Amino acid sequence: MTAIDIPEDSLFGLANLPYGVFSEPGTAPRVGVRVGESVVDLAAAFGDEVFAQPTLNPFMAQGYDRWVQVRRQVTELVSGEVPDAAVHPVAEVTMHLPIDVADYVDFYASEHHASNLGRLFRPNAPPLQPNWKHLPVGYHGRSGTVVVSGTDIVRPSGQRRAPGEDVPTFGPCRRLDIEAELGFIVGTGSERGTRVPVADFATRVFGAVLVNDWSARDIQAWEYVPLGPFLGKSFATSISPWVVPLLALGPARVPTPVQDPQPLPYLRECEPWGLDVDLAVFWNGQQVARPPYREMYWSPAQLLAHLTANGATCRTGDLYASGTISGPAKHERGAFIELTWGGEEPVRIGDEYRTFLLDGDEVTITATAPGPNGTRIGFGEVTGRIRPAGVDLE
Ligand code: CA
Repeated sequence: MTAIDIPEDSLFGLANLPYGVFSEPGTAPRVGVRVGESVVDLAAAFGDEVFAQPTLNPFMAQGYDRWVQVRRQVTELVSGEVPDAAVHPVAEVTMHLPIDVADYVDFYASEHHASNLGRLFRPNAPPLQPNWKHLPVGYHGRSGTVVVSGTDIVRPSGQRRAPGEDVPTFGPCRRLDIEAELGFIVGTGSERGTRVPVADFATRVFGAVLVNDWSARDIQAWEYVPLGPFLGKSFATSISPWVVPLLALGPARVPTPVQDPQPLPYLRECEPWGLDVDLAVFWNGQQVARPPYREMYWSPAQLLAHLTANGATCRTGDLYASGTISGPAKHERGAFIELTWGGEEPVRIGDEYRTFLLDGDEVTITATAPGPNGTRIGFGEVTGRIRPAGVDLE
């Protein structure tokens, strides 16, 4: 038996207990919980088949009461002694995509981000479109290309038309960007023809992950009118391997910014679900931005209510992302197109000045949030390195 060592300042103490799917060489992926610098194998510790699965979906589908029960059991387990066979150093395991991603939706919930992009793309018009403060704008993305942190990102190719060119050409993206976001994972689904009220968010959403919504700005700029993002986004979306339970985010809850005009009744919150999560973006190891999630205009509860407002189902494993997180200050912008103001204000990375991503670049996004009694909890990281465009794609 082993007593798990949890350093006092650990971001993975008893107040966090995020779930993931891990394996060691020669073993099958299964569900674990991170505690300090260890992973506790829940299949080995509890002998329950639901944790011997390669995704969190079967466990999530068991519903809110079960999530509460298991969190209590895990807390008891790791507070005492754990069987040796159920404890692994986090450095010695491989982390896998934690969920079987059902549908993937991406929103646009930061007023600062939406306003900045409006100013960049429509300089002679109001920065926000007339609908923006009435509904959370979003689009359906591609669940099949959601990948786990650490997966290399092949530079996408596609049609793009550079300024001054009359016709498009096909080739590798020249303006490859990131979007730092939070993603929310639906634990239990809804019936078609019904909608999920704002008040049901906490019992239906299992947890949150970090998202890097890689974006090919030149492909996106040429293709997006009038139906929105398509191939400029669908080549890859990275998520962090540890799913922070919503049950751990109570101390991080804050009011959303004042919403004026007041949203329609189906979007009104009974209790606020803004979240005081601090993100940090690292470009080749250098911190370049600190996006604050608490600045997001629409809360994740409102996003889910809107997502199902037409009677569309949500399902176990649905992932919906917040949209780029940007605050009011320049260093709080969560995408390079904003940070470099469309490429006009390069960022210094080491000895170089950079605008968009080059082959070999690596981007890592981390985040922490308040835990109880002045402590912090961590989301871990989502990281990815850019590989040259595939030969077949040129
Ligand atoms: Ca996005």
